[in-house]
Parts: sequence; structure tokens; C-alpha cells
Amino acid sequence: MNLIFLGPPGAGKGTQAQRLEKEAGARQLSTGDMLREAVASGSEIGRRAKAIMDKGELVSDEVVIGIVGERLGQERQGFILDGFPRTVAQAEALDRLLAEKKLKLDRVVEFAVDDEALVDRLSGRFNCKSCGAMYHDRHKRPKVAGLCDRCGGREFLRRPDDNPETIRTRLAAYARQTAPLLPYYRGKGLLLTVDGMADIAQVAGLIDRALGQKG
Ligand code: AMP
Repeated sequence: MNLIFLGPPGAGKGTQAQRLEKEAGARQLSTGDMLREAVASGSEIGRRAKAIMDKGELVSDEVVIGIVGERLGQERQGFILDGFPRTVAQAEALDRLLAEKKLKLDRVVEFAVDDEALVDRLSGRFNCKSCGAMYHDRHKRPKVAGLCDRCGGREFLRRPDDNPETIRTRLAAYARQTAPLLPYYRGKGLLLTVDGMADIAQVAGLIDRALGQKG
């Protein structure tokens, strides 16, 4: 199944994409992760992207579309686009890429959440340094403190853009540039909306039911 997860930063897209990757085999394609890899590699694209990401603004459509174009289409059991597309130009480019690669989008899942909760979610989250598993100070702590549930790693990272000022810029970028994608995909009959305010297990159930996989 080929999916897009759409919603503001902190809505739970990454958490649910990681879960579906594990349970259903679909591949999570996160442009944020790809850009952070480019930053870590010290490439020219990475250096330019870092300054923009640190401010909470969007990296240029051209760069992001190029990165996705290189990756998309290598998945055997479908993909979950997480954080892409983020502008109408990216959505139109995705339509062209899918047509070129003879792929079809099955659903776009919107995570509906309110802004107040997002600041709380973003400011408490951290990842395992080795496997990327996501945690939260209040909502999803490792089962054993200081030890990753998934790989046993002992080092964790917090994203530099998960600070209150950058979070506000990222939420504004979502409202201005990404929210117009909701009518775009509704018009194509692909949009499903789930309540992203529920807890992680409940959101998982809502997504599975909406996609017709369980229950
Ligand atoms: P994320 O991990 O999805 O929250 O993305 C982190 C940051 O990477 C964003 O704040 C943007 O600066 C950049 N980014 C990720 N995906 C995109 C995209 N599709 N278009 C433009 N910038 C992006």
C-alpha cells in the first residue's frame, strides 16, 4: 500500500509510520530524515539545508523533489511518505514521479491535531541514536530507562529544531504551505482523516481501521 501521512510536525506521523513499517512492511520515506542524513554527511546540499532547517523553514522544492525522486520506487511492499509533499508544487511533482514510475497512491492519511498539544509533543521528544526509534519524556518513555526498546542502544538525541521558537515557525509553515494539500487530496478522493489527539495505540487502531487492515 502506498500512503502519504499528512499533518503538522508532532502530529504522530513518524511514530505511526515506524509502526506500520514494522507491522506491514511498507517503507517509511521521511524527507526530514533524508535531509538530516545529508546534513550529517556534510554534503553541499546538507550544508545549505541545515541553515533552513535550523530556522524551521522549508527547504526548496527543487532539492526535496530531487531527493525523493532518487529514493521512490525501490520499495517492495509499498511506501509511507512522511513529511512529503509539503507544498502544492511538491504534490504536483509527486504526481509526475508516480506516473513515471508507474506507481499509484492508495491513500492520504491526515492526522488532525490542535496546535497547543503539538508544542508539548515536540518539546519532549527524543530518538535512539543508533536505530532512530522515537520516544517522549511524558508520552512514550523507553520501558527500561536509558535503554532503547528496539535495539538496546544507550544514546539518545534531541532534534535542534524541537525548540519553542523554531516549533512556532514550523507550525506556521505547515498552516501556510502544507495545509492547502488537504483540499488537493480531498479533491482526488484520497483523503482519510484520523484523530491524532488520541493516544499512540488508539491512533494506530484508527489508522488500521481506516485503511481496512484490521477490525
Ligand atoms: P521533519 O522531520 O519532517 O519535521 O522535517 C524537518 C525539517 O526538514 C523541516 O522543518 C524542513 O526544514 C525540512 N523538510 C523536511 N521535509 C521537507 C519537505 N518536504 N519540503 C521542504 N522542507 C522539508
